[in-house]
Amino acid sequence: MTGTRITTFALACLATGALVSAQTAGPAPGETLSQSYRGSQARNVEYQKIAPFKVMDNVYYVGPGSVSVWLVPTSAGLILFDTAQEPYVDTVIENIRKVGFDPKNIKYILLTHGHLDHFGGATKIQKLSGARVALTETDWNFMATQQANAIKNGRGPKPGDEAPAKDMVIKEGDTITLGDTKVKVYILPGHTPGSPSYELTVYDNKKPYKGFVFGGPGPRNGVEGGTEFLKSVERLEKQFADVQVALNVHSFLNSYPYPNDMGILELRDIKAKNPNGPNPFINNALWRQWLKDAHAGAVKYIAEEKAKAQKGQTN
Ligand SMILES: [Zn+2]
Repeated sequence: MTGTRITTFALACLATGALVSAQTAGPAPGETLSQSYRGSQARNVEYQKIAPFKVMDNVYYVGPGSVSVWLVPTSAGLILFDTAQEPYVDTVIENIRKVGFDPKNIKYILLTHGHLDHFGGATKIQKLSGARVALTETDWNFMATQQANAIKNGRGPKPGDEAPAKDMVIKEGDTITLGDTKVKVYILPGHTPGSPSYELTVYDNKKPYKGFVFGGPGPRNGVEGGTEFLKSVERLEKQFADVQVALNVHSFLNSYPYPNDMGILELRDIKAKNPNGPNPFINNALWRQWLKDAHAGAVKYIAEEKAKAQKGQTN
């Protein structure tokens, strides 16, 4: 049956001269969401434009399929964690409207680190809302240096990819208060030199839970970055083992995938199937398992990077 339908479809395409490119063809049957969004459909812009969805009473996912943008409404305006990048920024803005909020009411854009896929929309959204854009001193500098180097090497930035102008500097131990909501800042480097992380109380049916945005969930930059990342993970294991709702910066992670393929979109689908059941985003065991995987992964990463460095020296 299926074979006949595919053949008929292919013939119809040939007959009309329509071309179905691999880029827009959609995921192959049997692919996991992760394989599609971070793999085969990573550059399929229309595919990445997903509908926004509610995660907790005060948390909405408004980003494209592979990069998270978290919206947190408070009694005095909106907080946005990250902005995604072009060509998705208008979709993020539209998604905020779709879940019932006015993007002009964004008061804070809290960036999780100085990589383009997270900060690319900051300038546009700041212009629209007048929001403060917050990042650590180290990552403001990191972002500016990366951009200056790219300009020097003739590699950009493309229009829309510019780093936002330096605005609010946050540091370890800061608390950002907006109306009834407090966000605590921690610095957990290793993905970038100064990736901030954020703790906030999230609610499900008015019951409070510990929510956490880990700003840089994968090591970069060789032995140095790997060692910093491992330290950050060890700190999380000690100080934040009790996180109940992990608001991850990607719906899927390449470095250390979510255990049992429980990415944000899988959790979304579980929630949608059973809206009156327990909220699958409240999952401390999943967080702890992921920390374990990230810990083991970091140890392996450092060993591999050390071996690479040694090989480089003896060559
Ligand atoms: Zn990154």
